[in-house]
Amino acid sequence: MTDRFEVAVIGAGAAGLAAAKELTAQGIRFVLLEASHRIGGRAHTEYPPDGAPFDLGCHWMHSASINPFVPIADEYSVRYEKRDAYGPEAHYFRGGEWVSELALESLAAESETAEVAIAKAWSEGVDSSVAEVTERDGEWTSVLDYYTALDTSVDPDEVSIGDVVSYEDTDENWPVVDGYGQLVERWASGVPVSLNTEVRAIHWGDSGVRLETTKGDIRANRVIVTVSTGILASGALRFFPELPESKQSAIAVLPLGNYNHVRFWIDSQLFPADLPERVLAEVDLDSPILIYLRPYGFDCVTGIVAGRYADWLERSGPVDSAAVVKEALSSVFGHDILRQIKGDRQSAWRGNPFVRGAYSSARPGHFHQRAVLGETVADRLFFAGEATSLNHFSTCHGAKMSGELAVRKVLEAIKSP
Ligand SMILES: Cc1cc2nc3c(=O)[nH]c(=O)nc-3n(C[C@H](O)[C@H](O)[C@H](O)COP(=O)(O)OP(=O)(O)OC[C@H]3O[C@@H](n4cnc5c(N)ncnc54)[C@H](O)[C@@H]3O)c2cc1C
Repeated sequence: MTDRFEVAVIGAGAAGLAAAKELTAQGIRFVLLEASHRIGGRAHTEYPPDGAPFDLGCHWMHSASINPFVPIADEYSVRYEKRDAYGPEAHYFRGGEWVSELALESLAAESETAEVAIAKAWSEGVDSSVAEVTERDGEWTSVLDYYTALDTSVDPDEVSIGDVVSYEDTDENWPVVDGYGQLVERWASGVPVSLNTEVRAIHWGDSGVRLETTKGDIRANRVIVTVSTGILASGALRFFPELPESKQSAIAVLPLGNYNHVRFWIDSQLFPADLPERVLAEVDLDSPILIYLRPYGFDCVTGIVAGRYADWLERSGPVDSAAVVKEALSSVFGHDILRQIKGDRQSAWRGNPFVRGAYSSARPGHFHQRAVLGETVADRLFFAGEATSLNHFSTCHGAKMSGELAVRKVLEAIKSP
């Protein structure tokens, strides 16, 4: 690969694939380079022995009415479910018993109080952490903190309230029954991509760029970098000369947290017919786990862990990770239930060498750095990927939009003298 391309795109996740599709539409000669053996990045569906699609990464088309993947799912006949919020309310199991509807009113009230406090602090120009402005010792603090970790992939002391208030949420979260990863794969089929091509260094000091890759050097006039902030911060992809300090600071304060799915495949007779779809089980009163039971009628159960707890469990290994979800399950349904579990499959995003975490979160005080991360350098280094989005960060559709935006910027740069 010694040719000089107009544009080189690094990373074939949703952002890079969207950029590639847009460059194709504009008739611009490009090369798309992907380090791993597959496209999709954090959009990836697997098929464990239960046969039910298992999204290791994204699964929900958030803000569905403004999510560009919804019409794409229709076009490719990929099944999804239309829902308000996340569907039926979760059932809560705490301290060995189901929580009454009356008690749940206090959860709703605490949640509302937290939302108001976050909005107030932000409107007063304070960019603090979620933890700093919300109740720390409330009856439901552990549960609300867990939801913050699901939304942001970090714990409440690690995330800017800017992320919470700026995210454009229409409160419609539509799960992709056939798998969001499969949806992205089908949408991107036909996009030319060089797989197993890791970019190790970008030389951008002269005119144009030279990319050192595991398959040799590549030259282009411009590059669109879509790799995660986990990769950018790790030094696995080097820049010569170094990126400007402002860009390096932005990368440092937009790290990836962690978020993992633990999936069991089960005997279909395992649970009673009137089973709730979602149970939030709190065994210790400080480590809630949301469990999806037989989603869409598939014979499986999925537990979700996020934030530092997800990191700790991932480091502990798959046996320990499965054990905590099993413990939560047995605390709700009794110990016998564990005998019906036939196997498990888990994501481990921190350990993924080409992502290194789940999704970006702005550190307290640094929400404004998302805009800096997306800024172009020297008219030839363009940045895309979920972390650069100002109101759809942490999502697959936000990544897609960012890839398209980067191409618009490239076109402007090509046109300008
Ligand atoms: C567990 C989990 C659950 C999620 N749930 C949802 C959800 O329900 N809904 C939602 O909208 N979003 C969700 N997300 C977030 C969503 O998946 C991501 O925001 C989105 O997929 C990111 O796309 P991207 O293109 O920005 O980055 P990536 O998908 O990370 O793509 C970057 C690509 O770059 C490649 N790469 C890395 N380094 C190099 C290199 N040196 N050279 C070449 N290639 C390289 C990587 O292999 C990867 O393919 C979830 C994420 C996780 C992890």
